[in-house]
Amino acid sequence: MSAELSEIDLPEYADVVARYEPVMGMEVHVELGTATKMFCGCRTEFGAAPNTQVCPTCLGMPGALPVVNDEAVRSAIRIGLALNCSIRPSSLFARKNYFYPDQPKNYQISQYDDPIAHDGYVDVPLEDGTVWRVEVERAHMEEDTGKSTHIGSATGRIHGASHSLLDFNRAGVPLVEIVTKPIEGAGERAPEIARAYVTALRDLLASLDVSDVRMDQGSMRCDANVSLKPKGATEFGTRTETKNVNSLKSVEVAVRYEMRRQAAVLDAGGEVTLETRHFQEGDGTTTPGRPKESAEDYRYFPDPDLAPVAPAAELVEELRGTIGELPWLRRARIQQEWSLSDEVMRDLVNLGAIDAIIATVDAGATPDAARSWWGSFLPQQANSREVELDALAITPAQVARVIALVEEGKLTSKLAQQVIVGVLDGEGEPDEVVAARGLEVVRDDGALQKAVDDALAANPDIVEKIRSGKVQAAGKIVGDVMKATRGQADAARVRELVLAACE
Ligand code: ADP
Ligand code: MG
Ligand code: ZN
Repeated sequence: MSAELSEIDLPEYADVVARYEPVMGMEVHVELGTATKMFCGCRTEFGAAPNTQVCPTCLGMPGALPVVNDEAVRSAIRIGLALNCSIRPSSLFARKNYFYPDQPKNYQISQYDDPIAHDGYVDVPLEDGTVWRVEVERAHMEEDTGKSTHIGSATGRIHGASHSLLDFNRAGVPLVEIVTKPIEGAGERAPEIARAYVTALRDLLASLDVSDVRMDQGSMRCDANVSLKPKGATEFGTRTETKNVNSLKSVEVAVRYEMRRQAAVLDAGGEVTLETRHFQEGDGTTTPGRPKESAEDYRYFPDPDLAPVAPAAELVEELRGTIGELPWLRRARIQQEWSLSDEVMRDLVNLGAIDAIIATVDAGATPDAARSWWGSFLPQQANSREVELDALAITPAQVARVIALVEEGKLTSKLAQQVIVGVLDGEGEPDEVVAARGLEVVRDDGALQKAVDDALAANPDIVEKIRSGKVQAAGKIVGDVMKATRGQADAARVRELVLAACE
């Protein structure tokens, strides 16, 4: 029954949920934002030239020995604590054996039956203001694989490719995989709940500052397991696992599509195949991947090169103290404190700006200034660069720095826009952009006086007008001076100098 079903053959969603009950399970991989890899000292920067961040350990050379990244363990524990999990006093790394060209050791170091964090939950906020508790089975540490690029096929997949390229920069980057218990009873709200869960997880991980959680760059990846059972049945149906669903919207679309597709299979008297599937961004469908391996196929066994991870109880308690307020509760509190209307708040949330605004305020900006930048100029930039607002290459701390420069009078708001553009273009920190582009406001009277004198000399008629009392004519001179200084003059000061010169 793996023949593909077109949209036309699928039953209506309302009809599906009237007869079937969905069960879901979410597996989310998060790449940790540590400076170095999980088991070696190689850097983890995204976008570096292929195979420049590699060493014998992450290339799986014989005899190379892994060493656990302490920072990654701390992040994993913090994630576990934020998910209300228990933290295991001692847990092992295990080898998950399989062959794939992007994995040079022929096994992935992961955790198997004793993950560092287990049995937690997230109280996920839904749009209608209610909360849905998703139970978390485990959060375990592992390493990422390398990246294959298949050349010559229309789809970018291996089928039909003439050759493939391998980049091992990502091999060994620390990952935490978070797996839910089966999510039951969601009924028709299943797609919405799946999306809300992944959204909550993303916001939570962002607030912990353990990952940049960029679904578009793969630093957060979601696999959605879905099955259907006839309403009232107790036994779960066979699930499929839709891989690498790379946006929040796609999570919702993929679950909904899989529910309709499986209903069509079951309605026709067929059986759902236990398999991985690929989500198709283009038309929102899923296509078959490979049959699911069972755990036995991987021949897991404890990695003899690595000692157990045994965090001291004091360390776990210290890390518990670093888990702040849940981001959605913080939003609700901020809305109150800044007395934002529901409408304004909804706009900011819809823009994807609210957490950035809060972080910008935390970095020292006023709420008004932070709102103004994240509410208009930055969304315009995101729009013209065709990325999501939260994917813009600027941090709240950098925006706060630009705001501080404006408040210190070193930048006008026009110059500040240029500084922001410079940061977005990868020219460095705000202060570096100011220096490199020479953007600082010119306050030095000597330099300004020269520009004013030049402009006055070029416009004797206007000088006459000003002298005869038509003070508004000074605007033209001020404009010329601003142009001559590429917008860097302090306009109020220029006006004073112009008027003084005409007295
Ligand atoms: P695997 O490694 O095979 O992907 P995991 O245990 O890591 O298995 O993840 C399976 C996910 O699917 C978990 O979130 C689990 O709760 C969920 N799940 C298990 N059985 C079903 C089912 N029949 N229908 C839907 N989800 C399921
Ligand atoms: Mg899994
Ligand atoms: Zn390495």
